[in-house]
Amino acid sequence: MERSTIVRVHEGLHARPATRFVKLAKGFESDVELVKDGKAVSAKSSVKLMLLAVKENQEVTVRANGADAIEAVEALIGYLENPRAGLDDESEAGEGGSEAAAPAREAASPASQAGGTPTLQGVAASEGVAIGPAFAHFPAEIEGPGRRLQADEIDGEVERFRAAVATVQARMDRTLAEDNLSAGDRGIVAALRDIAADDSLTGEVEKLISEGDDAVSAVIAAAATIAADFSAVDDHYLNARADDVHAVGRQVCLVLLGQDEVSLETIPQGAILIADDIGAWDLARAPLKRIGGVVCGHGGATSHIAIIARSHGIPAVLGLGEKVNALRAAKEVAIDGNAGHVIVDPDEAARADFTRRVEAAAQERAGLTVFKSVTPTRADGTVIEVAANIGSLEEIEAAQEAGAMGVGLFRTELLFMRHMHLPSEDMQAETYSALAKAFAPHSVIVRTLDIGGDKPIAGIEFPDEENPFLGWRGIRMCLDRPDIFKKQLRALLRAAVHGNIKVMLPMVSEIAEVTRTRALVAECAAELKAEGVPHAAFDLGVMIETPAAVLIAPALAKEVAFFSIGTNDLTQYIMAADRLNPTVAKLNDVTNPAVMSAIELTAKAGVAAGIMVGMCGEAAGRPDLIPAFIKMGLTELSMSPASIQRAKKTIAAMAAGR
Ligand code: PEP
Ligand code: MG
Repeated sequence: MERSTIVRVHEGLHARPATRFVKLAKGFESDVELVKDGKAVSAKSSVKLMLLAVKENQEVTVRANGADAIEAVEALIGYLENPRAGLDDESEAGEGGSEAAAPAREAASPASQAGGTPTLQGVAASEGVAIGPAFAHFPAEIEGPGRRLQADEIDGEVERFRAAVATVQARMDRTLAEDNLSAGDRGIVAALRDIAADDSLTGEVEKLISEGDDAVSAVIAAAATIAADFSAVDDHYLNARADDVHAVGRQVCLVLLGQDEVSLETIPQGAILIADDIGAWDLARAPLKRIGGVVCGHGGATSHIAIIARSHGIPAVLGLGEKVNALRAAKEVAIDGNAGHVIVDPDEAARADFTRRVEAAAQERAGLTVFKSVTPTRADGTVIEVAANIGSLEEIEAAQEAGAMGVGLFRTELLFMRHMHLPSEDMQAETYSALAKAFAPHSVIVRTLDIGGDKPIAGIEFPDEENPFLGWRGIRMCLDRPDIFKKQLRALLRAAVHGNIKVMLPMVSEIAEVTRTRALVAECAAELKAEGVPHAAFDLGVMIETPAAVLIAPALAKEVAFFSIGTNDLTQYIMAADRLNPTVAKLNDVTNPAVMSAIELTAKAGVAAGIMVGMCGEAAGRPDLIPAFIKMGLTELSMSPASIQRAKKTIAAMAAGR
């Protein structure tokens, strides 16, 4: 029994869709295969399915043989044509390992001499400077004993291997059950657990054991074969799965050998962690508060290590390549996470320089902490909300520790970019609800998806555009794709039950964009009501980041509850100077009178209409500009958590007439 179809799974059979497909296939007794371009693989192995690299809109055939073949083919074809049908709608929060591995931005350059001290150049992955004792973490390669088994030893060795896999899975389950694991880290561990259980790995190992290999050698060989398959596929996401296979193989081998992984538990306070690579599973469980800095041979600015380091405020330099080996025997290391510099065993001059910079940064931070709980006001007593710009739940803690009075910009793009598929409504509702609860009673302003051809995401086909910044992005794309937009709006209505959610639209250039969104919100609310799903209304605002929005601000102000000025885009569009183009960087200046006057016009229109006017572009955190913005009438400033206390200090000084 077989049937062909066109795959409608947005991102193809990657990660979670592959796992779901396998789960469905395993529910049938029949042998089931998926065939693409004449190549058939078992539909009961997610590794094999992923390696088939099935993409959206490709033709595949489902073939089944057995008592329930008809039902199996029908169910699996149904899934491929309509992935939401036939499966429980489990949350996709923390989707397993679905973040495409980003290649390192820049390979390390050769060591140079700075004041007599060797300096290595890597990728500046997490800002800040640090100097501390080196903690080298280079776990030894595992080697199999290479022993040939006697025939009567084979069954026992297979049992030993199966028990080791069960132990690794149980450990991963325990890690997954821990409360302090972030959603992102949880997803990574879940992906590893899927691989550990996959037939293609276990099947290959058992085959090698039955041929006489000892279990450790068999695991090493099988993992290498499967990892090589992943590395050979022309797809960044699948290439990164090779590391996952090696990581799982290593864990199984360690159990078989009765060894423990070298632990990061013993890292001394303030030490600089040096490694060729650090498994996401290991780093997620490491004592991050004790780590002074991270240096790695692998990784880039958007790799998992960088994300974890940034969200915990740990300076990091990654992507050093082979050069990291020069640090194996280092006693002391200084790193500059802004410049991507690593100094091995700094000499007196370098040590003095770094110590001074670290102290200056610490002193500034310490002096500002008194402003954490300050509620800044204008001289007339009006509260100025100093809120945080964040893009993931992992950043909540940093924002709260800084004293954020809510969130003034939650960039939802990361939620969409992290995954190889569009996030489900449930997953989004959970994320927005968690945010609302974390900052209640303060407000959380969630920006609807602001994505365009310059930052494509899986699941949305973008046309090739000459000028993506002037193209199909932000609210324009969302209104053309109500299937995507309504999911986000429904999730936001559901989350509004849990706190003070406000919603703002990016890239608005005409009033119709607001009225059309309102109509969609009303449609979503009516649907939720009919479905009996709890939901609540939210304030709708717009970002002012196009010249058109500035020029129609008086009319726009009558349609919305608030304005938030996006100075990053507003500057590039007012000045007609690409924000990513260094050649015109001088023109891309928010202090240019043209931009400042656009901000003032916007503020005037908002104040006249009696709505809140805020700002969430980078300029909102600039102490030199804050007084001018407040004089214009802005009452909310949203910025990166690191700028919050300094901004509160500036506002307080202004109110005190200093
Ligand atoms: C802005 O344009 O100022 C803004 C905050 O949005 P983004 O930087 O995400 O485009
Ligand atoms: Mg913008």
